[in-house]
Amino acid sequence: MQADTYRHKGLRRKLVDSLRKKGITDGRVLAAMDAVPRHFFLDSAFADLAYEDKALPIEREQTISQPFTVAFQTQLLNVQKRDRVLEIGTGSGYQAAILGKLEARVFTVERQEQLFHEAKKRLADLGFANIRCYFRDGTKGLREFAPYDKIIVTAGATEVPQTLIDQLRIGGIMVIPVGTASQRMLRITKKSETEWAEEDFGDFRFVPFIGGTISNGK
Ligand code: SAH
Repeated sequence: MQADTYRHKGLRRKLVDSLRKKGITDGRVLAAMDAVPRHFFLDSAFADLAYEDKALPIEREQTISQPFTVAFQTQLLNVQKRDRVLEIGTGSGYQAAILGKLEARVFTVERQEQLFHEAKKRLADLGFANIRCYFRDGTKGLREFAPYDKIIVTAGATEVPQTLIDQLRIGGIMVIPVGTASQRMLRITKKSETEWAEEDFGDFRFVPFIGGTISNGK
């Protein structure tokens, strides 16, 4: 594993200050972003860029979300200690690590087998015993551990998936980017088995939420 040097820590502190200036107010979210070394989740070629507020490429033509986006989605989710949180789109595992730092019980699913294996190993190496990784098609959710207190989708969906709402407990919250060319960040609050409220938090851009799984080598 790479080292977390004073230089990395200093750069991370500056990134967290910039997130605060951009409107992230939740101190627990900022502390989690300060605690997790983002450069561990990137190829070493990108280590120097890890603490800029930018999305960066990972394997399989996917991206690790921009730090502001991770902080913003996490803040909207209002994670409480021991919440059962389902994340769709493990990618590098960075967002899962932030949820893990907030002491949630995290279930994260990824449709690309290679990314799933790498993220699972990385999160285990970092000692996150409260994060469980699954190689699955997230359009189906993760039924065996439902209902969830919170669901976070980190790929751009074309519509709000009913399957995921079904796996949310009543009173639960889902944060999901919805749209085609770009996405609106929606926060859905489940009011009853049949009703939910929707709030819109503006424009973001994500890689697409796609059905099916991709095994290694395919
Ligand atoms: N949360 C990630 C961001 C990864 S980008 C991070 O912190 O690094 C979005 C990820 O969603 C990609 O890895 C993509 O493969 C995955 N994805 C897209 N559609 C999916 C689906 N149906 N089920 C599970 N994962 C999916």
